[in-house]
Parts: sequence; structure tokens; C-alpha cells
Amino acid sequence: MRNSGHDFDAVRATLLDEIETLRSSSVSTAEKRTPVTLDQQSVGRLSRMDALQVQAMAKAEEERRQQRLRLIDAALKRIDKGDYGYCVSCGDDIPEKRMAFDPAAFQCVDCAQ
Ligand SMILES: [Zn+2]
Repeated sequence: MRNSGHDFDAVRATLLDEIETLRSSSVSTAEKRTPVTLDQQSVGRLSRMDALQVQAMAKAEEERRQQRLRLIDAALKRIDKGDYGYCVSCGDDIPEKRMAFDPAAFQCVDCAQ
């Protein structure tokens, strides 16, 4: 039987947990991504350049979170469809170890390279 090793309820719980974490850090860092104001007082001791850099990093982090959320969402859909644990590119089983390392993994090591 294929995929017998996966405990889908546990995997789903792990993925939902990660979604929760990503969403809450998205919310808690929202302020950092607001446009940098020219008003030096609100920037505090940071120079405008620093403030812009912090904002750029916060935006890049948010982009990574959104990307991760899309991956997790896709993994949850694959669980529902019964495709979970198979490489989306070649259809092979993705090794258990890899899925344990990243429950949202969607490609085998060969295809991911
Ligand atoms: Zn593959």
C-alpha cells in the first residue's frame, strides 16, 4: 500500500499549526511593512536609510511567509485528493524522511534540484 506511513491527521495538524504561526507573525510584523514616513520623529533613532532597509527586509520576510502559506495550502489540498507524499513532477513517492523534514514538500529530491 502506498503512502501507508503517513499519518494524515498528524500531518494536517502540523500544517495547520504552521499556518497559524505564519499568519500571526504576519499580523505582528504588519507595522514594519507600512510605508516609511519622512517624519524623523516617528522613525526615531533610525536613519531613513535604515528604516527603508528594515522595511525592505520585513517585506521580503512577508513574501516568504506568503509563499510558504501557498505551499502549505497546496499540501493540504494534496492530502484531500490523496496525492500527498508523491512528487508533483515525476509522481514518485517522496521519501518519508523528506516529508518529515518538510511536510509541505511537493517534489522528490531529484526533481527539486
Ligand atoms: Zn520527482
